[in-house]
Amino acid sequence: MRLFLLVFALFAAGCDTETAKNIAEVTSPEIKKIYNWKMVTTWPKNLPGLGTSPERMAKKIEQMSNGRLKIKVYGAGEIVPAMEVFETVSQGTVQLGHGASYYWKGKVPVAQFFTAVPFGLTAQEMNGWLLHGGGLELWRELYDRYNLFPIPGGNTGVQMAGWFNKEITSLEDIKGLKMRIPGLGGEVFEAAGGTAVRMAASEIFTSMQTGVIDATEWVGPYNDLSLGLHKTAKYYYYPGWQEAGPTLEVIVNKDAWNSLPADLQAILETASLAANTDMLAEYTARNNFSLRELLDQGVELRPLPQDVLDVFREISYKLISEIPSADDELSQRIYESYNEYRKGVIGYHQISERAFINVRGDGE
Ligand code: CA
Repeated sequence: MRLFLLVFALFAAGCDTETAKNIAEVTSPEIKKIYNWKMVTTWPKNLPGLGTSPERMAKKIEQMSNGRLKIKVYGAGEIVPAMEVFETVSQGTVQLGHGASYYWKGKVPVAQFFTAVPFGLTAQEMNGWLLHGGGLELWRELYDRYNLFPIPGGNTGVQMAGWFNKEITSLEDIKGLKMRIPGLGGEVFEAAGGTAVRMAASEIFTSMQTGVIDATEWVGPYNDLSLGLHKTAKYYYYPGWQEAGPTLEVIVNKDAWNSLPADLQAILETASLAANTDMLAEYTARNNFSLRELLDQGVELRPLPQDVLDVFREISYKLISEIPSADDELSQRIYESYNEYRKGVIGYHQISERAFINVRGDGE
């Protein structure tokens, strides 16, 4: 009755129908409903950047929704182990997940294109493909099979090739080397003669110190410094050929997504896209500060030799072309879309980003 009177009063005051409708919606029972959601992540709780970014995102969502969408964020292992995030959200045990699509390559090989493939796209290029180049529509079509709705949710930018306990002067030095390097990068490393070891972040430091592995990649100066990797190896190699701009994902259970009113969907999507950009900004600023600190502590910075990079690149392109499956038309469309975009943007960035970076000097 009060609502009727309010709407009536607004009409009487000359308020247009659209405004009256909006006010009626604001007072509807659906709008008053509070959603208490959980988000499981593939990151150790509060890991700088990767882990803190979803926490900030959850806080913003609660503020923007005026407390109607509350999200509690869990680190890896708190509810489920990191590698079970996809299944858990897919089944609807929890509503949200934060991680990286290439972790699910055993189940969905073509999903790797939505994080990173070796010698692939930079962060800026990934954003272009996903948000304005058709990539996100394909990602959503793919994840619909698993009752999931993906949103880009972060990016570390170009990573580092990693830490080595000896100098790498040619491809010969890769032979027999035991390196922690996951995913397709690891397959490339093995095909080039090395031994790829997969292990969680928590095991890397000790494994390097005890000589279980000779080398490791992790992220970049910001995260590597906090993990103390400079205390385990002297040589720090670049560039991160294996991950040039990995996009992280926010995954929403499709039934949970559909249960949200349109405004909360928009808030969730926008907050996730804001986190996507904000994380890249955080890594860009922090990597820069952390690299200086590492150099002050005596770390030896080295580029990977050209022959090593040439062989890695050749193997990478071959393995990437084998990802789409002949009996899955969608996987071929994803590969074609990615590859066409990649070729075009490489050409464009030769005369824009690269040309500019080459001429601006070394900052002195
Ligand atoms: Ca990495």
